[in-house]
Amino acid sequence: MPVDTVLYNAKIYTRGMIVEAGLAIDEGRILKIAKETNLPPASAKMDLKGNIALPGLIDIHVHLRDQQLAYKEDFFSGTAAAAAGGVTLAMDMPNNIPVTMDSKSLRERMRLAEKRAVVDVAFYSAFPKNLGEVRSIIEEGAVAFKLYMSEKIGGLNVDNDEMLLHAFNKVVEMRVPVAVHAEDRETLENMRRKMEKAGRRDIEAYVKAHPPEAETKAIRRVTQLVKKSGVHVHFCHVSSAVGLKAFLTAKNAGLPVTCEVTPHHLLLSSGHLKRYGTLTLVDPPLRAKEDVKALWKGLRQGLIDVLASDHAPHTIEEKEVESVWDAKPGIPGLETTLPLLLTQVNEDRLRISDLVRLASEKPAQIFNLRGRGSLDEGKRADIVVVDINQEYKIDSSRFHSKARYSPFDGWRVKGKPVKTFVDGRLVMDEGEIVAKPGTGQVVRWEG
Ligand SMILES: [Zn+2]
Repeated sequence: MPVDTVLYNAKIYTRGMIVEAGLAIDEGRILKIAKETNLPPASAKMDLKGNIALPGLIDIHVHLRDQQLAYKEDFFSGTAAAAAGGVTLAMDMPNNIPVTMDSKSLRERMRLAEKRAVVDVAFYSAFPKNLGEVRSIIEEGAVAFKLYMSEKIGGLNVDNDEMLLHAFNKVVEMRVPVAVHAEDRETLENMRRKMEKAGRRDIEAYVKAHPPEAETKAIRRVTQLVKKSGVHVHFCHVSSAVGLKAFLTAKNAGLPVTCEVTPHHLLLSSGHLKRYGTLTLVDPPLRAKEDVKALWKGLRQGLIDVLASDHAPHTIEEKEVESVWDAKPGIPGLETTLPLLLTQVNEDRLRISDLVRLASEKPAQIFNLRGRGSLDEGKRADIVVVDINQEYKIDSSRFHSKARYSPFDGWRVKGKPVKTFVDGRLVMDEGEIVAKPGTGQVVRWEG
């Protein structure tokens, strides 16, 4: 019996090296990585033209929207953007309408994703009001909880550390991680009130209302709760030098904490705000050059665990408004992350092994996504093929996402995802989506 597919004439990133080889896929799994002559006969053969095959990206910070926010993005457009960007598994955030915060709302999102997604999708849940429901949410399949320290999303009073500790104690029994948006709500509110009182409505006022101290304070508060509960906390989008320092204090104390940074916090700084205006409004905001430097230093020293896009699509009308307080924070990132990172690889600012560790291997480990995150025999055939030498300009008008704008629009990049395979199926080919809605799978917590 021939196997399903053989990919040949490839450079394959496996076990920390790039090897010139081919790859045999059967029933969605990698059966063999070997010289082409040593691969079994296959029903289909595909020439990768000497390009590099990497494990598909696992983007752990994605807002796929849909339901009442489908005008911003839906499971099809969002996962098409993922496929175009080499992402084979997107982890969906819970700040939807309705908020994902119980087994019913989770089940409904899973049902829609199963009909519409073209890559795999896993789900975060916000905390329910009744913490007794934590178990049923995980049993329904949520792979992690998301806690916003910056505002109330879900059932918890985020100003009340005792209540948060209760929640963490519930989750630790089930051994799922909690991802935290670390900005202290009270600090944000006080600062914003000050700015509004002064009649400020400009983007610099927004940045001032989201100071690095808000990040530090939230990280310190949560660190105390980690110490008491033992829960694994993953800090989302760490953005400042002091925030990173607070995180590293927790990490160096041996606590079960990990962190992520985004491409926009690595490649843009507050200096870009004037040029791009509210389009570049993200939360946490773009920081000073010294902060960017600190993030890069942390990255090079191997202290950052994950790179994630924080793909947060809105309509252009929601972005370009008079008062910054009305603007929606967030930018699309699924289609720019990999090209931007490959450009960093080409410029020797990032090693390809770091890229794979940060965007595939570590995400799979942290969220217990078995059989994923690396290319090896027996693993899932979730693959992105990249042309490392292709130079082009980012053109947001061609995004698959409904959010067709980007602060990176017009940036010259080098390195392009040219094919994406999910579960052994070709989903994206030269920028085109070739899979039908519903071919992506929902990935559930496996215990
Ligand atoms: Zn987010």
